[in-house]
Amino acid sequence: MQSSITLSNWEVVSNPAFPVTLAHQDHGRSDFIIGTPSSKPVGVYTADCLPLVLTTDTKAFAIHISRHTLTAGILEELTKSIDNEKIRDAYIGPHICENCFVFEEQGEGIQQFEKIFSYAVHKDTLGTHISLISVIENYLRKQDFDISAIIQDNRCTLETPILPSYRRWRAEGENGDFPRIITAVFTKT
Ligand SMILES: [Zn+2]
Repeated sequence: MQSSITLSNWEVVSNPAFPVTLAHQDHGRSDFIIGTPSSKPVGVYTADCLPLVLTTDTKAFAIHISRHTLTAGILEELTKSIDNEKIRDAYIGPHICENCFVFEEQGEGIQQFEKIFSYAVHKDTLGTHISLISVIENYLRKQDFDISAIIQDNRCTLETPILPSYRRWRAEGENGDFPRIITAVFTKT
């Protein structure tokens, strides 16, 4: 059967002008939402974190990838929901790059991340760098997905002024509600 799932994405700084059901996001292992051909658009919001969209023949997943959600086990949780279906498409949206995603202090959270994902961490004089994308590539390889087929928008949010970035926003001394990227999945019937 031909897949009826198609995906598209966009970035917005304020509220989208269309209905989109966002995942409930609390930086935990359940920060993703599942769309089906009969559902309205589903999505996640990010502001430096990595928006990941995966599709199978019957479902689309919009996933909030952060160092917190990865450490909490979001990929294991995701695997349960994907069941034995094959991943057909993978989309990675704009997120903070490894050079910019640096922590001067090695707190408990960073140490925990490093323990699980040592291959995604490197250190230099600036501090500890985290590569979110290398965790996702590693995951997809394990799911027998050819990572050269990932559709990617590799712009770094921090370095791209037109994209919302939590770290840039904070560095500019802003506070309150921060601007976000909405990555949404449309499913075609
Ligand atoms: Zn960067």
